[in-house]
Amino acid sequence: DAVVHWFKMDLRHTDNRALALASNKAHEAGVPLICMYIVSPQDFEAHLRAPVRVDFTLRTLQVLKEDLAKLDIPLYIETVEKRKEIPNRILELMGEWGASHLFANMEYEVDELRREAAMVRDFAANDKSFEVVHDTCVVPPGNLQTGTGNQYAVYSPWYRSWVAHIHDNLDLLELFDPPAQNPGSAREQFKQLFDAPIPAAPKNKALTKEEKKRFHSLWPCGEHEALGRLDKFCEERIGGYHDKRNIPSENGTSCLSVHLAAGTISARTCVRVARDRNKTKKLNGGNDGIQTWISEVAWRDFYRHVLVNWPYVCMNKPFKPEYSNITWSYDEEHFAAWCEGRTGFPIVDAAMRQLNHLGYMHNRCRMVVASFLAKDLLLDWRKGEKYFMEHLIDGDFASNSGGWGFGASVGVDPQPYFRIFNPLLQSQKFDPNGDYIRKWVPELKDLTSKEIHDPYNRGAGPKAKKKGYPKQIVDHKSCRERALSAYRNGIESD
Ligand code: FAD
Repeated sequence: DAVVHWFKMDLRHTDNRALALASNKAHEAGVPLICMYIVSPQDFEAHLRAPVRVDFTLRTLQVLKEDLAKLDIPLYIETVEKRKEIPNRILELMGEWGASHLFANMEYEVDELRREAAMVRDFAANDKSFEVVHDTCVVPPGNLQTGTGNQYAVYSPWYRSWVAHIHDNLDLLELFDPPAQNPGSAREQFKQLFDAPIPAAPKNKALTKEEKKRFHSLWPCGEHEALGRLDKFCEERIGGYHDKRNIPSENGTSCLSVHLAAGTISARTCVRVARDRNKTKKLNGGNDGIQTWISEVAWRDFYRHVLVNWPYVCMNKPFKPEYSNITWSYDEEHFAAWCEGRTGFPIVDAAMRQLNHLGYMHNRCRMVVASFLAKDLLLDWRKGEKYFMEHLIDGDFASNSGGWGFGASVGVDPQPYFRIFNPLLQSQKFDPNGDYIRKWVPELKDLTSKEIHDPYNRGAGPKAKKKGYPKQIVDHKSCRERALSAYRNGIESD
């Protein structure tokens, strides 16, 4: 007999609830533990996984495989072309390995939840057990309710309740130990699993040589890297987070989103480590930087709770149904200019070029470009949401959909549609010297901090033109009016 852990978005061996449970089960029963990861090209397609994110996953599996091998635990990785064949293939593999217990951490997207609910039933019918547990959120969805027993659709009261719930249930922050050493016999019995190689990325998700070189040095992978990054951030920068987190030219945030998305670190560990540094030993109060950072990690939980409570947001629908009837502009040239960072709005262009080069964009800029796409260009926010998923190394359905909901005013947050970001004011406020723009839009690097936010209207037109930087593709003031009436008409026609 054997026990199996199925890795999905939890690519770490420390502080992994399902893996710890699987290891305990194996030791109680005195049987080996086998770990497994299924590469599913169709899942990559369905989830619009960015090639850079697929590459990060495959690199991380190598680190994980080595860590587990030190404990005599094999990590077997197999490609299954069709996603609907995955459950049967897992059953088959378990048959080959003589295993009867499968463990996994739960994913909350609709397709995954349905698949796993069906698997629990099928496994029982085959005399096997499949245990799926909560792990990815600090507070599992379903635990927080308003005074009247409803689900929260607004972040601030939800956050207060999240903090109180954790303070009342401190075990939610406890660390799960790595699995124990497998019995030595596992090495002999499952030798072929230890030797199996990690598959290459599917062709349509493969990186070029140049991209590999760039992304590998930009984004070192694995859970040791993640923990090191968290410690360093807490040691050196978390205290200044409150003041610096909105300034994209500063190295003010943790850049841990890639690890939270791949599961190379748990949100639980992030919150615990940050809390332990707070003099108050609480999530709130004490150091401003620490409590603000924890409240940002909480946003990740919040958007997952939203997904579970209102699953239709997984189906390309806005959270607010009355925002389904807006007539968008569908101007392909505008969309291409947005994607490529040549809109003539330097802050927008800098941000899009950062995304295209790094597979990452600063949070403030994500808000600016999302608002610009939906309001200034009046393009369907789902086009932007999709482009983000296809390019982000930290692409995460719940957070991305939540962020786009905010940017386009169609989401949970009470961000009324008539509050429209002015890209120039955002630029002046959050990149006052133009350092971020200079880094990503080198055509403008010689402009003064006054000229740089709006070269053609601030006397630097000839300089910008000479360097090939475009004029603004739209006029913010008239676009603002256009957006207001399109949103108003859309809602009224509902
Ligand atoms: P830090 O500021 O150090 O924050 C720590 C962690 O808290 C982050 O790693 C992240 O896990 C979480 N977090 C912080 N802010 C948010 C937020 N607003 N919503 C949800 N979680 C948050 N985040 C993703 O992880 N994946 C996405 O696909 C994604 N898409 C976004 C799209 C839009 C339009 C917007 C406005 C935001 C999006 N975000 C997304 C949220 C946020 O921009 C990133 O999490 C953040 O920029 C990551 O940088 P960091 O790790 O340095 O964050």
